[in-house]
Amino acid sequence: MAAALLDNRNPLLFRLRDNGVKQMTSTKIKEIVPDGVIVEGPEGECKLEADTVIAAFGMKPNGGLVEDICRKYPPTAVVGDCTKVAQVGEAVRGGFFAAWSIH
Ligand SMILES: Cc1cc2nc3c(=O)[nH]c(=O)nc-3n(C[C@H](O)[C@H](O)[C@H](O)COP(=O)(O)OP(=O)(O)OC[C@H]3O[C@@H](n4cnc5c(N)ncnc54)[C@H](O)[C@@H]3O)c2cc1C
Repeated sequence: MAAALLDNRNPLLFRLRDNGVKQMTSTKIKEIVPDGVIVEGPEGECKLEADTVIAAFGMKPNGGLVEDICRKYPPTAVVGDCTKVAQVGEAVRGGFFAAWSIH
């Protein structure tokens, strides 16, 4: 959330506040169970009752395929989210410099 554009972030934070959404920071989901979610936070473990769970955990690069390609076709330039999940600007910049380095 800290990296989000202010134009997206601020209205979202206001809507969460205005709708009374409880925000639990420093809290980790341990398990999703049929009637809720088991979480562990600063005050220990507890169960949040829920009939629907929406998961938005973010993403991680899947390096396996990239490593296979790099091994098979050296030198391969690796750019964009498969190096580090980021934003369009980083992917476009990475692509530009990779293309520029081809002589
Ligand atoms: C919900 C969401 C909202 C976002 N909002 C923003 C935003 O507002 N501003 C911003 O700057 N960034 C945003 N991003 C991040 C941005 O979309 C990414 O950083 C950017 O698209 C990365 O570009 P990329 O080319 O590395 O990867 P991608 O755009 O993901 O392109 C990778 C492509 O490779 C294809 N592919 C994967 N595996 C294979 C395979 N085995 N064979 C062939 N093709 C394959 C995929 O189908 C895909 O088309 C958002 C991302 C998400 C998920």
